[in-house]
Amino acid sequence: MLTQAPRGTKDVLPTDSYRWQHVEAHMRKAAAEAGFREVRTPVFEHTELFLRGVGDTTDIVQKEMYTFKDKGERSITLKPEGTAGAVRAFLESSLYADALPCKMYYLNAPIFRYEAPQNGRLREHHQFGLECFGAQGATADAELILLAYKLLGTLGVKNLSVNINSIGCPKCRPQYHAMLKSFLGERISCMCDTCKTRFDRNPLRVLDCKVEKCQELVADAPSMLDVLCEECAEHFAQLQECLKASGIPYQVDSRIVRGLDYYTKTVFELITTTDKGNLTVCGGGRYDNLVEQLGGPSMPAVGFGMGIERVLMLLDSEGVEIPKPDQYDVFVTYMGNNKIPAFMLVQNLRKAGIHADMDHTGRSLKAQFKYANKTGAPLCITLGDDEVANGVVKIKNMNTREERTAALADAAATVREMLGE
Ligand code: ATP
Ligand code: MG
Repeated sequence: MLTQAPRGTKDVLPTDSYRWQHVEAHMRKAAAEAGFREVRTPVFEHTELFLRGVGDTTDIVQKEMYTFKDKGERSITLKPEGTAGAVRAFLESSLYADALPCKMYYLNAPIFRYEAPQNGRLREHHQFGLECFGAQGATADAELILLAYKLLGTLGVKNLSVNINSIGCPKCRPQYHAMLKSFLGERISCMCDTCKTRFDRNPLRVLDCKVEKCQELVADAPSMLDVLCEECAEHFAQLQECLKASGIPYQVDSRIVRGLDYYTKTVFELITTTDKGNLTVCGGGRYDNLVEQLGGPSMPAVGFGMGIERVLMLLDSEGVEIPKPDQYDVFVTYMGNNKIPAFMLVQNLRKAGIHADMDHTGRSLKAQFKYANKTGAPLCITLGDDEVANGVVKIKNMNTREERTAALADAAATVREMLGE
């Protein structure tokens, strides 16, 4: 128990973190290229924010939130998604008063959901997400979809399909709700238990159910796309025009509704087919009413969330090699009483930007070499009495066995040369 991480959580170990850093670097770059700047919001928020923001009929709020009372008797919830916190920060700091659109991204945000842990489904996962406030045009939706698609492609995710839908707005959705309810009403006895409760609270959610019999049942449900109001239909047409112009393949899937209540108009998912079935890597959409719903001005907005663990899982299953950086450029070994000169040499090499280290455990010279080899350091320096007396170092290439002697003062430059820099 003591040495076991809680169910549904995962450590990123020092030997593996380079994989995360690789993916994160690409994410930062893609966001920055499109003018998004990073936002960091707290890991927990007042529970009320998610009740009002995410929607109290959603799976997340109904059964997945980590909610507790703090010592001051406040109800606190660990972030179950990224958008509500971003909107809260946007409102709290009146960012709507600055030039719009306001474009922000979050990276590595820990997200907590009490779900049944399984392949690709954790209780703590991490998301990369983008939010664009104050842009009502469909080009803003297209920009996000394109960014996610290109980013995943660059990283090496294959078999990616882009699925889009429109779930309308408060003007046109009630009519659809009524149509869908009458369709589902006739079939309610065949639905799963969760969907039976969804039927009353939020029938749209039934379209999103992952239970097979429910999926079969809704296969020929009426489509929201047939009843979009003029404004929503026009927006959806423009989105498709943008996607076509940028040449990315996409599919319209009228069953995509997304698991959060705040969406309006565009919703989308980027899905990959793996040998274990379909996996959604990225989901997002437009939420034109959320900012106002949380007490702010009327403010169109669009965003997405991408699961970093899922991206890494896909790269793994597709055998994409992520370059593993060396831990060290050079390892300094020493003989006899030369511990302090070795220590100072390591410090000076580091000052010059070289990744250097030495033994701290009192190993013999032979054992120091063995350890240096194990770390994979490409170069090794030896400091013996002669070297210290003469103010020189011996630098050895551990692969080619080439050895050079350099003046102590030139050690860093010679190391660089030998590294081929
Ligand atoms: P799913 O349909 O898989 O339940 P979702 O619709 O609940 O996903 P979102 O709320 O849209 O997911 O979250 C955005 C992304 O975060 C997902 O596309 C996925 O990549 C990732 N994600 C969501 N839940 C988890 C989880 N429990 N474990 C790992 N990644 C997750
Ligand atoms: Mg989910």
